[in-house]
Amino acid sequence: LKNQIKLSILSINENVAFARASAAAFAAQLDLTLTDIDEIKVAVSEAVSNAVIHGYGNDTNTKKYLELTMNLYQDKLEFIIVDYGRGIANIEEARQPSFSSDPERMGLGFVFMDSFMDELEVISSLGQGTTVRMVK
Ligand code: ATP
Ligand code: MG
Repeated sequence: LKNQIKLSILSINENVAFARASAAAFAAQLDLTLTDIDEIKVAVSEAVSNAVIHGYGNDTNTKKYLELTMNLYQDKLEFIIVDYGRGIANIEEARQPSFSSDPERMGLGFVFMDSFMDELEVISSLGQGTTVRMVK
């Protein structure tokens, strides 16, 4: 591990842009292409917005902070987004293209994370929260 930043972020939509900018700033430590940085920005902001929208939703009983941990290894970056919200009942289904529990949404967040990052791992348990780990 060469560098690490841990952010605790209040779960409001306004903070998605902050998380995106933080991910780009952290990624700038590696000599990446602009495309790579754009892909990291999209993937991290999709995961963070999922935590805000789906993880916490309107639930005010849970601790409404999400955690963004960014790790720099020799030549790769790892981003871990954790929420303590409602969790995902069926992860396989949630990761399918166009699947959304909200009819107003596109259901593409996980598709972007999957295609833009080299590794995507989703761990979740109902009522406890969700962890998304991505590597590029
Ligand atoms: P879009 O990202 O295109 O706006 P979406 O958020 O519904 O739509 P995905 O990001 O692919 O699509 O997520 C798929 C589904 O997985 C969501 O509709 C939601 O039901 C569930 N989900 C994703 N992240 C979380 C989370 N952190 N907590 C609880 N449920 C989640
Ligand atoms: Mg989404």
